[in-house]
Amino acid sequence: MTDTTFQSIVIGGGSGGLSFARTAAKLGAKVLLIERGDLGGTCVNRGCVPKKILWSGGQLHRNMDRAQRAGLSAPQAVRFAALAARRDEHIARIRDGYTDTLASEGVSVLRGQARVDGTRVTVDDTTYVADQVVIATGARPTALDIDGAEHLSDSDDVLSWTSLPARITIVGGGYVGCEFAAILAALGSDVTLVHDGDRILDAFPAALAEQVQRNLRQGGVTLHLGPGLAAVTRSDTALDATLSDGKRIRADAVVAAVGRTPNTATLGPLSDALACADTGAVRVDARLATNVPGVHAVGDVAARMPLTPVATADGRQLAHMLHGAGGALIDLDDVTTAAFVYPPAAFVGHADDGARDDTNRPLSDSALGPVDGPNPQLYRLGFDDTGRLTGAQIVADHAEDLITLLAALRASGATASDLARIAPIHPSFAEEFTGT
Ligand code: FAD
Repeated sequence: MTDTTFQSIVIGGGSGGLSFARTAAKLGAKVLLIERGDLGGTCVNRGCVPKKILWSGGQLHRNMDRAQRAGLSAPQAVRFAALAARRDEHIARIRDGYTDTLASEGVSVLRGQARVDGTRVTVDDTTYVADQVVIATGARPTALDIDGAEHLSDSDDVLSWTSLPARITIVGGGYVGCEFAAILAALGSDVTLVHDGDRILDAFPAALAEQVQRNLRQGGVTLHLGPGLAAVTRSDTALDATLSDGKRIRADAVVAAVGRTPNTATLGPLSDALACADTGAVRVDARLATNVPGVHAVGDVAARMPLTPVATADGRQLAHMLHGAGGALIDLDDVTTAAFVYPPAAFVGHADDGARDDTNRPLSDSALGPVDGPNPQLYRLGFDDTGRLTGAQIVADHAEDLITLLAALRASGATASDLARIAPIHPSFAEEFTGT
């Protein structure tokens, strides 16, 4: 690369960095994107996309199992290697697409590890200079500091497995741990989920988390709540996970899903200069500026919300702020959150606190559950004193789509009577919370 001077240099080619670079280039800015690994970052290569492909495989397998119990089909075996190959082909297609797209959109791309000093960025022996630098370096799986930590797998490992361990212990009841537990059990592994708290999904509303907990158990996952993981030892044939109460769980793989650590440590002199929150994420203001002049941060490395739509929206808005007519950050209160378990669980806003009892509709059993077993669905809507929708919680098939529509209704000020005015499809799950 001959050019060493740019208007913006963005470090990291994941959801946040790509969104910033592509928008900035469309706005006419001269942009350099530096990536040390695979374009697409966590979401495409080690997160949302491979996870959703495996989730879909698990969903199909569950449906085949249900169909068989309803007398509709013969037993089907899971061919995990084939599913893994489909996953990897899909990811490679997206990744390769970025190379062409970035070139055609006028974004310069440099491969390598960036070290940053103010607005000067060095890769190998060349230093590049910009008016502003955007840090979009994401986060990595948090390592557990216990005896035998070297025997642990993390989410990067799980999403590149090409064969399925028969017995899996997952440590951590956040959304990633719960999703892995549900998916791997649905694909046929014997799964134990260990969480050092009273209930899983502690960042989710309690009613949702409790329903997911019941559904995980119903899906064959063994839950151990309370004691955390203390040590892992390897024998010839297996791994033994020892919990802090002394209990031992034997498995073929032990997966640590205990959170993500923002990637600030490998940025050279900038690493020490950045002001960070207790989580390790970089503090940013309403213009995504850090404490270091000329340096901004987007995505998981910034103290916002570690989800792809937030990284993408913030990257786009920052480009408009720096190179366009101005942008505005999305309100994190409007962000929807989902756990891809079975059925998926999703929420937006607040439906527990401040909701009027008479309008905070109770949990509901729908007639449209699976062909066997107790009904795992749940919805809850919250309304304020004026009847406006304040939040929604859903555990149901297609919750990940329904919640986005409810979030749009909430953001546009819809009320209980607006929902009552709608004549829903019958029979459907949505008629539980629409119509009179
Ligand atoms: P990343 O995508 O992590 O990109 C950062 C990039 O920076 C990386 O490619 C890295 O190689 C590069 N980099 C780092 N340091 C340097 C350096 N010094 N020089 C050069 N390059 C560097 N979110 C959702 O919204 N929905 C989901 O369903 C979902 N599922 C997930 C499942 C899992 C298992 C995981 C782990 C995450 C999931 N997420 C999900 C979160 C989502 O993946 C992240 O929020 C998103 O990828 C963050 O994007 P980012 O651009 O901030 O960082």
